[in-house]
Amino acid sequence: MKKLALHWQILIGMLAGVAFGLVAAQLSWNQFVIDWIKPFGTIFINSLKLIAIPLIVASLIKGVSDLQDISKLSQMGGRTIGIYIITTVVAVSLGLIVVNLFQPGGLIEESTRTELMETYGGDAAGKIADAERQKGQGPLQPLIDIVPDNIVNAATDNGNMLQVIFFVIFFGIGLILIPKDKAKPVKDFFDGLNEVILKLIDLIMLGAPYGVFALLAALVVESPSADLFAALIGYSLCVLLGLGIMVFIFYPTLVRIFTGRSYSFFFKGISPAQLLAFSTSSSAATLPVTMERVQEHLGVEEEVTSFVLPIGATINMDGTSLYQAVAAVFIAQAFGMDLTLGAQLGIIVTATLASIGSAAVPGAGMVMLVIVLGQAGIPEAGLALIFAIDRPLDMCRTVVNVTGDATVSMLVAKSVGKLGDPEVKDWDDYYQKE
Ligand code: ASP
Repeated sequence: MKKLALHWQILIGMLAGVAFGLVAAQLSWNQFVIDWIKPFGTIFINSLKLIAIPLIVASLIKGVSDLQDISKLSQMGGRTIGIYIITTVVAVSLGLIVVNLFQPGGLIEESTRTELMETYGGDAAGKIADAERQKGQGPLQPLIDIVPDNIVNAATDNGNMLQVIFFVIFFGIGLILIPKDKAKPVKDFFDGLNEVILKLIDLIMLGAPYGVFALLAALVVESPSADLFAALIGYSLCVLLGLGIMVFIFYPTLVRIFTGRSYSFFFKGISPAQLLAFSTSSSAATLPVTMERVQEHLGVEEEVTSFVLPIGATINMDGTSLYQAVAAVFIAQAFGMDLTLGAQLGIIVTATLASIGSAAVPGAGMVMLVIVLGQAGIPEAGLALIFAIDRPLDMCRTVVNVTGDATVSMLVAKSVGKLGDPEVKDWDDYYQKE
């Protein structure tokens, strides 16, 4: 019997997780779910995160050294960063258009605002404190932060993926510049390591349907009460509309125009990564699967994926930037503030930068939103207004972040002649082979 395709298995796992979570909440089994189901979700995310840093190291070193000369590297680097910035600016602008068109903040009554502020004021204060820690440094601090002083620290949980990427590209450049016979054993080692890691991802993904089941069941039993959600429907719909346009219209259209690949080809290839992004709310945890899907199912050669995707997971967050724009204007509207055109243009710049600065982990976009609010003169305490609904929106914006990275890697690959036909290998074949 033919096994169900992976994206269907993951989808079934997700739906079953939500259904189970709802039943468990009704039966007051919350503690059981937290003690006995949630850990399997955590183990699944941990194993993905575990593989992310070795994957970046092995594949990026291989990718950079395969380029063989520095001019090719700077050509690809320039295109990658350029297209990433363009897609992010498009996303923020789209968010601003939607939120100005529908004005969801106008629907928030004074009493609802007070209630939301009272309920979530404490949580919001925590995020504001996190953001304050990131601010208050010199203007060149983000640049300083890219260069690690200790590579082992950079690769730890509290470290910084951008620093690892910096070191690895630097290492790859060194490898290009030394004599070929000296470079060969080092390259061969990383080639082999890369293969091993790709195999480990295959193995981890066998557990994906169960992992997402556990994650979503736990999320449902842990989510706060639903009554205040209703007040935020207008705001949520604006974010979702913007995100939906990005995923279902903007990206597939770009792919269609610039690479000639069809909608169904694109979605069939990338959907397991999208479902995983939704379940984990983390582009970093999804990265191993994004790389595998883009390489083996969308036909992008490894030289490009290994370079474009780790950078994208870290700096290209179209969904996050769109959400930050909508949220900032929504909070301003809810406080009855009128934002000038100048202030809104300022949001385009700050939301683009804030999304680049957001870490690829759950909830990071909200911390950086504080900075966007501060720049635009919008009360930062307004964060409390959108707290209740942040997690579900985080799940959706992470899908956009990951889809954006996949799209740009296809465009870059096409522009440098590295977009081929996907390898025949499919998860389904993999299951059957085993
Ligand atoms: N969770 C998002 C990501 O990992 C970041 C955010 O917007 O909070 O891509």
